[in-house]
Amino acid sequence: MKIESIAVSKKKGTPKTRVEEALIVREHGLEGDAHAGKWHRQVSFLTSESIERARECGLEVGFGDFAENIATSGIDWMKIPVGTRLKLGKDVLVEVTQIGKECHARCAIYYKTGDCIMPKEGIFGRVLEGGRIHVGDEIRIFDGSEQGDGRSPEEKEISKRVKAIKERLGKELIILTHHYQRKEIVDLGDFRGDSFGLSQRAAADRSAKYIIFCGVHFMAESAAILSQDHQIVQIPDAEAGCWMADMADKFVVERAWEGLTLVTGPDALLPVVYMNSDADLKAFCGRHGGIVCTSSNAEDALRWGFSRREKILFFPDQHLGRNTGNSLGIAPEEMILWDPHRELGGNSADQIRKAKLILWDGYCLVHTRFKVEHMEEMRARYPGAKIVVHPECTQEVVALADAVGSTGYIVKYVENAPPGSTIIIGTEINLVRRLALECPDRRVVPLHDSLCPNMYKIDLNKLLWTLENLGKANVVEVPDDIRRDAKIALDRMLELAPTQSKANGKRQQA
Ligand code: SF4
Repeated sequence: MKIESIAVSKKKGTPKTRVEEALIVREHGLEGDAHAGKWHRQVSFLTSESIERARECGLEVGFGDFAENIATSGIDWMKIPVGTRLKLGKDVLVEVTQIGKECHARCAIYYKTGDCIMPKEGIFGRVLEGGRIHVGDEIRIFDGSEQGDGRSPEEKEISKRVKAIKERLGKELIILTHHYQRKEIVDLGDFRGDSFGLSQRAAADRSAKYIIFCGVHFMAESAAILSQDHQIVQIPDAEAGCWMADMADKFVVERAWEGLTLVTGPDALLPVVYMNSDADLKAFCGRHGGIVCTSSNAEDALRWGFSRREKILFFPDQHLGRNTGNSLGIAPEEMILWDPHRELGGNSADQIRKAKLILWDGYCLVHTRFKVEHMEEMRARYPGAKIVVHPECTQEVVALADAVGSTGYIVKYVENAPPGSTIIIGTEINLVRRLALECPDRRVVPLHDSLCPNMYKIDLNKLLWTLENLGKANVVEVPDDIRRDAKIALDRMLELAPTQSKANGKRQQA
């Protein structure tokens, strides 16, 4: 496996000029190249075999003509999962971040070559360690194991220091990591899971004094609510929030509740809040007879709610609410959307009276990025593959999937898939990358690249800094009255008997 050609260009969308050697700059790309910069596609790769095939089809093309930085030989890039690390020459370390890309407009390359293979066969990466590369340099692929994961010396040093602190504190310290965290964070955690699994773990742990929560703020807040009085919960980055959680706050939900109960009467309506929400909304649910749910148990939570009241206000994720409503057989006309900026949420009193499920107009930007076009494209590219998506995706995407479920479900789905199978996943890219590395005998492919920037805020440096400031840095605190009421709604969720439920006819697992 080696470098056959190196090429750079000053302008995007134009063929690149070949050079014999180049300087690759850490977190930037090839020096002087138009595609270098602070993003995830700093360096591009194409196989020389792909270029040769294009030539055989009659295109007059050579190295650099598809705007690839590096042409390689001896590597089947289609078998390399996103997240794989590569050593180029002696020093350069690159992480594969994307396979293929969307072309929105035809550029100079298309007009020169008559076609472009980059959208399908191009590979893109981020530079973790810089250095000089030369034509003919060897390329090594790391396999993801502890010894062969291609980590930089700085990352190894930080991991060593984190492990030393863990060893010194033993059971006094527990690190919880969400599935969407980077691999290097998950590798240092004591427990990985989705928000339901992590909240169960936080509620069950009695011995740890310090709980470090590597996830977003609402999750750490839930851990703080469920923790014991002697426990301290910390989050490595207090700014790691959630866009969806920000789409509903206490004041607008209280206003909506007032408007709705004026129409429905006080005893017809029950609130169900998704875990992805601030503590005071969970407290609101606790005070109004409601319950918290996660994507693992939304069906059970809605059944629980409907056994008590006639109607449910579900917030803040309309898609999880609608997909769950669909799987429970609620008719589309019995589900209405509540727009918090409009009178009666944009509904008539009559529509509210007829509705069973009132869905807050919130959504996850990471999961609504998956589109029907992506499903069609992937089905054509990987015939026979299974597509599994998260229920925060739109109902159109869910309807076309083979399976739908929480992140915990998706992990089990891949683990249980037969060796040799291809699974296309519609959820956050860090989980997809890790699954691809952890299950090398299955092909795990992202439905589309979609990264949660909030989850990504937590890195090794911040984790180490938090551990070096135990009990002090970014301590997550919830006022007593909010904690008391929110705990009522969270405890109701934890007491739900787990059942195997169905979502749109597809098996979903708690
Ligand atoms: S993936 Fe979506 S719902 Fe989850 S933390 Fe990120 S923005 Fe929030």
